[in-house]
Amino acid sequence: MNVMPTTSPAPVTDHPDEPGAEYRIRAPKRPHWPELSGAEKDARKKRIARLLAEQDAVLVAHYYTDADLQELAEETGGCVADSLEMARFGSESSASTLVVCGVRFMGETAKIINPEKRVLMPDLAATCSLDEGCPADTFAAFCDRHPDRTVVVYANTSTQVKARADWVVTSSIALPVTKYLHGQGEKLLWAPDKHLGHYVQRMTGADILLWQGSCVVHEEFKGFALDRIRRLHPEAAVLVHPEAPADVIDQADVVGSTVQLINAVGQLPNPSFIVATDEGIFWKMRRLAPEKKLIIAPTAGVGATCESCAHCPWMAMNALQNLEQVLRAGDQEIRIDPEIREHALRPIQRMLDFARRQ
Ligand code: SF4
Repeated sequence: MNVMPTTSPAPVTDHPDEPGAEYRIRAPKRPHWPELSGAEKDARKKRIARLLAEQDAVLVAHYYTDADLQELAEETGGCVADSLEMARFGSESSASTLVVCGVRFMGETAKIINPEKRVLMPDLAATCSLDEGCPADTFAAFCDRHPDRTVVVYANTSTQVKARADWVVTSSIALPVTKYLHGQGEKLLWAPDKHLGHYVQRMTGADILLWQGSCVVHEEFKGFALDRIRRLHPEAAVLVHPEAPADVIDQADVVGSTVQLINAVGQLPNPSFIVATDEGIFWKMRRLAPEKKLIIAPTAGVGATCESCAHCPWMAMNALQNLEQVLRAGDQEIRIDPEIREHALRPIQRMLDFARRQ
């Protein structure tokens, strides 16, 4: 197993299908939200709950968002979930407004599935390095160069990129869908996450051509530093999201989506866990198994200025403050061209139907 740091990063390129190329995005600064006192927080939550009820709105929050938002979503009849469950919940809910706390592709997916509903987000500028690292025009040209391949895109993409795809997958369903397509004898073009794509390629043996995108959060987990921390905690199970690099995945006891990692904390007998994904997930893990110790996997190791900064800067753009603001102002609404929506719906629907059959 390779546990040494990589010293020579791959070149950045406009042609992400070149061997060894990389499509890298610089992360924005994480926003600094003023600390709220306990009383201010409670009062704000009550006001938000009232606004949600008045507007027939429901909160749909991702596991990587702030703990206050996750708690509020559960308390007000909304949901806290991964992107597949967020999409399902949005379409099953009777609420006429969905307030999506997460990143933009999640809001867009909710709108694609529920065009008749109003979909708001606390901040429409909350995107994702995978989405930004896969521009629709460059991606379309990439697909055009490989017409013999079935196009599979991760949910973390824009509506335009989804509209060009045959299948959309989330991390919880990527493996079964790839196994199925491989079994049908199909060759795949996979975008945008190269680590997830590489992982499913290794697990299924499918013929996959990878777009070279990555998640700025998971990309930072380091195999050599994880190896060191594992030795300090031999009793801990290692839980890894498949957006992490291969030398981190290779050390995992469980590789899985956010839901699968949360379930592992409840199911495995280990007293502690080293977790290689966004630390926002700890809130749900602690609710499930408060007696267990959670350790965030290191991102840089000895000599770095920080041992772990595993929190998505775009997810951090969601807070109680701008959630209340968007419910009052009604701005930050997701709008999608109806024609592109129709094209994007097909591969999403294919995934949802596949998930239902599973
Ligand atoms: S954690 Fe990574 S994949 Fe998830 S939204 Fe942030 S940048 Fe995108």
